[in-house]
Amino acid sequence: MPRLSLDDPVTAITGINTAYGGKLERVGVKTVRDLLLYFPRKHQDFANVTPIAWIRPGMRTTVRARVYQIRRQLTPRKHMQIARATVSDDSGQLNVVWFNQPYIASYLHEGDQIFLAGEVDLNGGLVMKNPEYEKVSNDPNHAARIVPVYPETRGLTSRWLRPKIRPLLWLADQLDEVLPAEILARRGFTPRAAAVKQVHFPESMEALERARGRFEFEEIFLNQLANQLAKRARKAHPAHAIPFDEQVARAFVAALPFKLTNAQRKAAWQLFQDMMKAEPMNRLLEGDVGSGKTVVAAMAMHHVGKAGFQSMLLAPTEILARQHADVIESLLRPFGVAVGLLLGSTPTAARRSLLASVASGDVHVLVGTHALIEEDVKFKDLGFAVVDEQHRFGVHQRLSVRQSELWPHFLSMTATPIPRTLGLTLFGDLDISILNEMPPGRPPVTTRLVPPDERTAAYNFIREQVLAGRQVFVICPLIQESDKLGVRSATQEAEKLQGEVFPDLAPRIALLHGRMKSAEKEDVMARFQRGEIAILVSTSVVEVGIDIPNATVMMIEGADRFGLAQLHQFRGRIGRGPHESICLLLTDVDDPETMRRLTAVVTHRSGFDLAEIDLQNRGMGDLHGVQQHGNEFKMANLLDAGLISDAQAEAVRLLDRDPTLAGEPALRRQLSAYRRVFALD
Ligand code: ADP
Ligand code: MG
Repeated sequence: MPRLSLDDPVTAITGINTAYGGKLERVGVKTVRDLLLYFPRKHQDFANVTPIAWIRPGMRTTVRARVYQIRRQLTPRKHMQIARATVSDDSGQLNVVWFNQPYIASYLHEGDQIFLAGEVDLNGGLVMKNPEYEKVSNDPNHAARIVPVYPETRGLTSRWLRPKIRPLLWLADQLDEVLPAEILARRGFTPRAAAVKQVHFPESMEALERARGRFEFEEIFLNQLANQLAKRARKAHPAHAIPFDEQVARAFVAALPFKLTNAQRKAAWQLFQDMMKAEPMNRLLEGDVGSGKTVVAAMAMHHVGKAGFQSMLLAPTEILARQHADVIESLLRPFGVAVGLLLGSTPTAARRSLLASVASGDVHVLVGTHALIEEDVKFKDLGFAVVDEQHRFGVHQRLSVRQSELWPHFLSMTATPIPRTLGLTLFGDLDISILNEMPPGRPPVTTRLVPPDERTAAYNFIREQVLAGRQVFVICPLIQESDKLGVRSATQEAEKLQGEVFPDLAPRIALLHGRMKSAEKEDVMARFQRGEIAILVSTSVVEVGIDIPNATVMMIEGADRFGLAQLHQFRGRIGRGPHESICLLLTDVDDPETMRRLTAVVTHRSGFDLAEIDLQNRGMGDLHGVQQHGNEFKMANLLDAGLISDAQAEAVRLLDRDPTLAGEPALRRQLSAYRRVFALD
């Protein structure tokens, strides 16, 4: 294919028709360049060719042998097509079986010299199951080498991809190097073209590791550059400097009905220090449910109000907005700081007069839902914007809260525990404050793993709690793919509880799911808050992020289907009052892996620990609320703190020397593509 170039569509490649072009496009591969950069997920080291006599069970290796016999069969009971072969070399004989690939029996013939690569089992005699196979040549793709294994999705197999990518590798020489020469030299990285070749078809495991190391760095480096550029752009904007006033802070603390935790004190201090600067703060306040984030935000709002500026707080639901407004008003009213509440449901006349007070500066703190970020909401002098559970809001919404030339200081609050290394990458433009300490005097929540045969006992316990006046959450998992919002699973569960398990309590059992209108949802939550509902059956889609001090039981069905950090967040909804609380994890699965994961929730009390365990075991997928950010990393291990701090240091160093990247045109192009894809621009 001598005339191919990097920008040609993949369908210009021999052997790729439009059907395959479509499949590739679905994994983001449109051009020859994209295909070169479509990296393997892992490799199999099949480089050693072992004589059959030397093979031992459990070995993963390549065999070079002659087909002695091959035929197709139908398994008697399972109706599965198999291909079965016997092969031999000078040293011995080996059986081979391929399941569901009967066509192999017509591709390979008796007498063919072939490579087989795979794991050898002991089953009567030695047998290879579903090995890679290939007729012997000097330059095999599937065996007798370190073999790439590509992400196998949507009808794209490694077996199909290998011979398509291999002949393209010479084109890698035309790819731009994106890392600055200085970094390549200092860190001894493989140049990009060579690294692309080694990552697909490595000469050795060492060469592969070096090449991978370079791309891991490249990924994090681009991310850190984007973060640093965003940070520098933000800091170049002017903001109101809010002077720190010790008297004001003392007065606020003295009026609180409790003592701040050390973590709250430290976080507040970090906020004050940021806000003293005439550049906008961008800080994330992270802490488990109940760790007291609202008070910290209120303390800063108090300060901002006393300095003559306004604040706003954006909440994800009306009920949470109301809750925040009540809390903040009770804290700030004694100081003459006026709090307003703006909701989608606020009547027109009330809305108009509230907006007038916001525009004139008579309202110092405006709390609300999305209604806050509508066009006509104009502040006199917005100094501070807070977003609760920011991952629910898009970047644009974040930007549009900035109303004037002077940007407000920005704080987002989340209960999603984000491991430190992730904080540096995914939220790299944010500074992070962590509330890693709970207010004292709250009885810790007990967590129990309930085996299927103790389900009845669990129901009896729930009945006792309800009869004693307490309230209960029941969380249902999403069971079927088609039931995306979990409507069906939650509905069935509620019917079962009302009809069979608790018929006596049926009128006090209610259902909450994502298909309900938001007014309906708010109504159910309000009735639960007032205690009219005793048992709330909910999907995980509906986050029940409200303060119900009287709720003492959190029962989670299908607990194996949730991430650990997510289970922890559910658990945080109880234990908020004086009563002892218990979280019950139910599952029908009892394999050791599931038991180990769920036991971690029983033994660990920290959401951060659980988030790290999630990340180690199952990658980003389980980190509820952050997974959508993680897709940009294909190679890098996001728990590799050393890699991340190295990449960050290099990004800072480069930008200090060349703030506009004028000397690095290829890097600049790559970065602008990166920022476009991840909507950073
Ligand atoms: P978060 O938003 O982090 O989930 P909240 O701010 O809603 O937590 O606080 C949870 C509860 O704890 C509230 O009722 C609040 O008044 C109370 N609280 C906050 N800080 C303290 C503290 N230092 N000591 C005792 N109670 C506190
Ligand atoms: Mg909160």
